[in-house]
Amino acid sequence: MKRIDGIKVNSFLEIKASEKEIDGILEKTKQLKRLSVEESAKLLSVRSSALLKKIYDAASYVKNTVYGRRVVMFVPLYISNFCVNSCLYCGFASNNKLTVRKKLTFQEIKEQTEILLKRGHKRILMVAGEMSSSEENTDYYVGAVKAIYSADYKGNKIKRVNVNVAPMSLSGFKRLKEAGIGTYQIFQETYHEETYRKLHIAGAKSDPDNRLDAIDNAFKAGIDDVGIGPLLGLYDYRFEILAMLMHIEYMEKAYGVGPHTISVPRIEPAPGSAYASAPEYPFADEEFKKLVAVLRLSVPYTGIIMSTREAADMRDVLVNLGVSQVSAESRVTPGGYEDNSVGIPHNDKLERQFSVNDQRTLDEMVKSLLLQGFIPSFCAACYRKNRTGEHFMDFAKSGEIKHMCDINALVTLKEYLEDFAKPELKELGYSLIEKYKTKLDKAGLRVLEKFSNNISCGVRDEYI
Ligand code: SAM
Ligand code: SF4
Repeated sequence: MKRIDGIKVNSFLEIKASEKEIDGILEKTKQLKRLSVEESAKLLSVRSSALLKKIYDAASYVKNTVYGRRVVMFVPLYISNFCVNSCLYCGFASNNKLTVRKKLTFQEIKEQTEILLKRGHKRILMVAGEMSSSEENTDYYVGAVKAIYSADYKGNKIKRVNVNVAPMSLSGFKRLKEAGIGTYQIFQETYHEETYRKLHIAGAKSDPDNRLDAIDNAFKAGIDDVGIGPLLGLYDYRFEILAMLMHIEYMEKAYGVGPHTISVPRIEPAPGSAYASAPEYPFADEEFKKLVAVLRLSVPYTGIIMSTREAADMRDVLVNLGVSQVSAESRVTPGGYEDNSVGIPHNDKLERQFSVNDQRTLDEMVKSLLLQGFIPSFCAACYRKNRTGEHFMDFAKSGEIKHMCDINALVTLKEYLEDFAKPELKELGYSLIEKYKTKLDKAGLRVLEKFSNNISCGVRDEYI
């Protein structure tokens, strides 16, 4: 794709809006209509707390209308921290002598996956550094995806593997698609070209255009669920958000569909990186909440992912403002999952990519969501039924998805409660399921009752 026009983005940053204009835009969001970049810029320019409250209320409304109370759970799996690039903010940078390097074998990847299956995880985000040749990357990533899908714990399997890995050739992407990946995720890091060149000083990643083209190549290879995002803290966050929205407009025009998910990672301290401890463009938590809410309103049907980079209290707030997927008990080191071992605290490990703030276990995360009335979901039915890309968006927009997804989410929650949850969590979860049953129509209730009874009889993994 063509580079994002920085001058145009800057012109959006000058925009201010009256209260009347903001009210008008928020009225439009109630009809779940996509916003223009200019409208999003107006929302981002808001500072008054009264108007911010209106934005938050609108974001909660859109979140609840499109996604119901579901929050999808996933866990990252780091497979290698060898990297040829030197991103100044990353613990895996090739010039970082402090990092202890590790590339997991396929057997080790399978074993790590089995540890995660044993805890109840069903969706994995596979993450890796970049190796020296495109073929080497592809062979390793494809083998790793297969190893993850081959893992088995008492009949439990991973349902969906998303990947966050280096750009590949068209044929490489095709092989990844054939291996059965869900989303291909790649962060542009910064859409500000000068900053990009300053922070990516070596390796294939030093070319910003190559990074942008990765999305096009993924689409051309038939991967229609892609995930994008900026790494916040490298440049003015407002520039990044508006440039990303322009990127989305481009994708919609070129491929008929925007990204499946957006991530908004904020930079965290990383071993050996002075830059990551003092990013050039830090910003306040209140601004972070605002940008998540504005994204929810700008692209109502695009999932928003919130990783454990953010602290527990912040994530608990953000699930109300638009976040639709959260990770739990993440380890950002290859081989970081240990079976029943306390070991060195994760944030002290030198092989980690960065520090993790939300350290809750999956059970604790599920509990926290249940207490807020959310349905933690382990579902991957859309991907398994080929409801991806444009088809997914058609379902999502017709409202059909909500009904199906609530049933699927409740079924996966019940399975989690039966098979993995601590006893005190079960009661909380079962009463939430009872509460949501009352919200289903007759046909929906019939399906849920049938699947629920089947779970009690030992049947697993049913979905619509
Ligand atoms: N190596 C591949 C790449 O860079 O695209 C994929 C994996 S990389 C480990 C995943 C993402 O981690 C990067 O795209 C970057 O946004 C993020 N990241 C790197 N350093 C970070 C830091 N110090 N704090 C938070 N996120 C960071
Ligand atoms: Fe390598 Fe990715 Fe880290 Fe850059 S962000 S050094 S490419 S692992």
